[in-house]
Amino acid sequence: MSIQKNVDVLVIGAGPAGTIAASIIKQAGFNVQIVEKMRFPRFVIGESLLPRCMEALEEAKFLDAVKAKHFQQKDGAKFVMDGEVCDFSFSQQYTPGWQWTWQVPRAEFDKTLADECERMNIPLHYETEVTDIKIHDGYSETTVVTGDGQQETITARFIVDGSGYGRVIPKLFGLDKPSTQHPRKTLFCHMTDPKRSEAVEPNRITIYVHNHKTWIWVIPFSNGNTSVGYVGDPEFFESFKGTPEEQFRALIMAQPELATRFGESGMLWEPRTLQSWSATTDTFYGKGFVLTGNVTEFLDPVFSSGVTLASVSSQLAAKMVIRHLNGEQNIDWENDYMKKMMQGVDVFRTYVNGWYDGSLFNIFFAENRNPEIMSQICSVLAGYVWDESNPFVKNHEKNVRTLSRYLASQKTAV
Ligand SMILES: Cc1cc2nc3c(=O)[nH]c(=O)nc-3n(C[C@H](O)[C@H](O)[C@H](O)COP(=O)(O)OP(=O)(O)OC[C@H]3O[C@@H](n4cnc5c(N)ncnc54)[C@H](O)[C@@H]3O)c2cc1C
Repeated sequence: MSIQKNVDVLVIGAGPAGTIAASIIKQAGFNVQIVEKMRFPRFVIGESLLPRCMEALEEAKFLDAVKAKHFQQKDGAKFVMDGEVCDFSFSQQYTPGWQWTWQVPRAEFDKTLADECERMNIPLHYETEVTDIKIHDGYSETTVVTGDGQQETITARFIVDGSGYGRVIPKLFGLDKPSTQHPRKTLFCHMTDPKRSEAVEPNRITIYVHNHKTWIWVIPFSNGNTSVGYVGDPEFFESFKGTPEEQFRALIMAQPELATRFGESGMLWEPRTLQSWSATTDTFYGKGFVLTGNVTEFLDPVFSSGVTLASVSSQLAAKMVIRHLNGEQNIDWENDYMKKMMQGVDVFRTYVNGWYDGSLFNIFFAENRNPEIMSQICSVLAGYVWDESNPFVKNHEKNVRTLSRYLASQKTAV
């Protein structure tokens, strides 16, 4: 299919952010086209979803196609520190909403969403990279380079930038801003998991606290393989020498629960490293464009917020783009889009910071956990970070800090 030279909306990137926005805008009757730099399926990290993203997948009409893939159902998340367990079950969360989601190999998941877009007659051009954008009054001109080196120009009334780590518009327009998050590193791999059935909850995503600054994800997939990754300060990894395989094997053996389960597992590819992934930008919107997904702000992987924030931002942005295309004037992008998204990001930021400064450990691993409070925190971990009836959303910072201090003082008193 040849590239359309003139469209209502050009979407950059075919990850969850791009495809969800494209589908919702297409359903409103507009002419949408997606350009994607890579050929799918392609690897991307971000395998544990949160229940809140199901609402966006549903609105994009992707749910049936994803269900048909039989990905591993995710009903909660388990945190383990020094043998102590804190298990969240989404069926016990405070906010009414989805009580489950999936753990997905992203190559397959993202390809499913992309295929659905094509089935909806949204032209999707793989191996087509955006290299330049010029914004004019009422339209834009985007330069793309195709896999065979051809340069084309696409005129669009509006651009949705869902380019994730590519950060196309922030880079081209100088909007990138340094993140305030501490730089961290990960070493991760997909592994065979022949001993999975011996685990207490074999298919539950589990986060192990390795030391107070280093944690490990274990994300079982329905294909029998499991994603395992260490996250910590870059210096932590320096004491592990050798090839990536040797380093990763040594890391597995350094955590008793992992040594038992994965000590003899095979690695499906050479373990990969990522570093300093947190990113942010001055603005999430501008004349003729909106940023969605990771291009806006990405904090940290510990609470699996990335795909959910990508999905929710696209769901929200798509509806505002439709209003713009329908000729509505005075759309309040600042309050109705950017501030709204930042509200959710800020809730997650409190929990991410609380994880790394240890204050959440006092709450998660307290001897007597209050079920009502835990259900409110469970809703945050399910991605319902806009429900202001939840005190652990509305007054997130104060409540997390106060509760943590109180529980720490109880421990000291004993
Ligand atoms: C270590 C780590 C672990 C993580 N774990 C989780 C997790 O468990 N759960 C979770 O929800 N999130 C997780 N994340 C975050 C997750 O990776 C992202 O939030 C998510 O992929 C964002 O989706 P997106 O659609 O915005 O971008 P992406 O999925 O990155 O898609 C963007 C697409 O844009 C394309 N693109 C880029 N540049 C261009 C260009 N110039 N022209 C055309 N196309 C372009 C790319 O090829 C890509 O396919 C993790 C992140 C890290 C770093």
